[in-house]
Amino acid sequence: MSSTETCPLYIDGSWSVPSSHPTSPVHNPSRGSVIAGVPMCGAAEVDAAVASAKKAFPMWRDTPPNDRAQVFFRLKILLEEAFHDLCLGIATEHGKTLAEARGDLRRGIEVVEFACGIPTLLMGESLENIARGIDCHTDRHPLGVVAGICPFNFPALVPMWMWPVALACGNCFILKPSEKVPLTMQRVIGLLEKAGLPPGVMNIVHGGRECVDALLEHPDVAAISFVGSTPIAREIHRKGTLNGKRVQAAGGAKNFVILMPDADVDRTVEAVKDGAFGCAGERCMAGSTAVAVGEAGERLLPALADLVSSMKVGPTDRADSQPDMGAVISREHRDRVAHLIDAGEAAGAKVLTDGRKTRVDDAPDGFYLGPTLIDQVTPDNPLMDTEVFGPVLAVLRADTLEQAIAEANKQAFGNGAAIFTNSGKAAREFRRNVSAGMVGINVAVPAPLAYFPFTGWNDSFFGDLHIQGKEGVEFYTQRKTTTTRWFGFGDGEVWAK
Ligand code: NAD
Repeated sequence: MSSTETCPLYIDGSWSVPSSHPTSPVHNPSRGSVIAGVPMCGAAEVDAAVASAKKAFPMWRDTPPNDRAQVFFRLKILLEEAFHDLCLGIATEHGKTLAEARGDLRRGIEVVEFACGIPTLLMGESLENIARGIDCHTDRHPLGVVAGICPFNFPALVPMWMWPVALACGNCFILKPSEKVPLTMQRVIGLLEKAGLPPGVMNIVHGGRECVDALLEHPDVAAISFVGSTPIAREIHRKGTLNGKRVQAAGGAKNFVILMPDADVDRTVEAVKDGAFGCAGERCMAGSTAVAVGEAGERLLPALADLVSSMKVGPTDRADSQPDMGAVISREHRDRVAHLIDAGEAAGAKVLTDGRKTRVDDAPDGFYLGPTLIDQVTPDNPLMDTEVFGPVLAVLRADTLEQAIAEANKQAFGNGAAIFTNSGKAAREFRRNVSAGMVGINVAVPAPLAYFPFTGWNDSFFGDLHIQGKEGVEFYTQRKTTTTRWFGFGDGEVWAK
């Protein structure tokens, strides 16, 4: 695709650009330049995509699971061959570093590997002779047409949480990538086509609210997977379930990291820095709020401040020169986060490392905000009211572990939480009592791999079955239980009353 082309839709095995829609710009955040446009589609395109998926469904459902798995084995090879170029594309449209882009795609490929095992994952249960001459078994069936709506922050991984599992289970899929980062999935779905996926099984539509509403209201869409901010996730869950759909909707987060006085200094500060500032803090599992317990502040914060202030910020779109941290997704988002820092400081917090002053001379128009470490944040500080989703680590103080856990549990969110300690007792207390669905013990970003579910709690998740792993298979299938009576042509014991 040349620099400012419009992203095509992918419907019924054909790529096409709709002519009549306004486009939304896709940026290279490192430079602030526009690299593509996304057509903001509505109900007509959604109708066409759903019709194509519905037409393909009987054929794809009846394709044996082992044959469906072969598509994913071939896709895995194609993804490995294209790995470097895809990662550079992720770094360019998102702004994260090449190393972070590699993590983004690698985790996505792991879901493809998981999907290769679908024959085993789809196996049912059976019990012979539940009554004399009668057997019972349960097996899994796909739902039909299912849709996925994605956020900007993981252009590869988040969409790949969804469609490899959904397709391997025998469903047909409509993907609505983030309008901010549509290019990665365009390339990956091109490879899926090359891997032999039949036309109509996978479809891409582009747009914003209008397009999403059309998916939520379409009677032929059986299920919706959504990942994004909490207000939208809550609304998607509400509308989708009202319309009779199965919905899993992952929302925002504010993940607490508890620093205990006995934590290992060097390894803790390195991990906490990566957890807070990796992907410029634009991770739903970012450890964005630290609570230093007792002497932990004095032991750890000077080393953390040194490490953070040494981070190099810059453009990520060239493979031969990479910074420690890239730009944030947009100018508006940079300004929003900078204003939150202003408000936090005005409320009495102490800025130890100030990212608002960061300038990148070789990319003056990029959306840069340097890593910001801000101490003495109190529970009533405006920084505590919202998900910041930028390169900001807010530090609170507490006298005891119990106080620190209580502070974390005041949050409406419940995605991740971590503790750094050498005490098994403290780790166990924390693990049992913190109200979050993914917990790290001396691990700052406890994001589960493809074969585990991504188990956000509270306002970080709306629905019953989480994304990924066996819960993902459960979400994208429905069970059928068959009871079979074998009329008595036999004379053995089993037939005798
Ligand atoms: P967002 O909520 O703004 O957008 C997500 C998707 O919803 C996009 O595809 C967008 O087009 C669509 N959308 C936006 N407004 C809509 C509306 N009014 N109605 C219907 N659809 C709408 O999120 P974002 O800024 O792209 O991504 C960042 C957010 O995603 C953060 O809050 C982050 O924590 C969250 N996130 C959560 C997880 C998780 O697993 N819990 C993972 C990644 C990101």
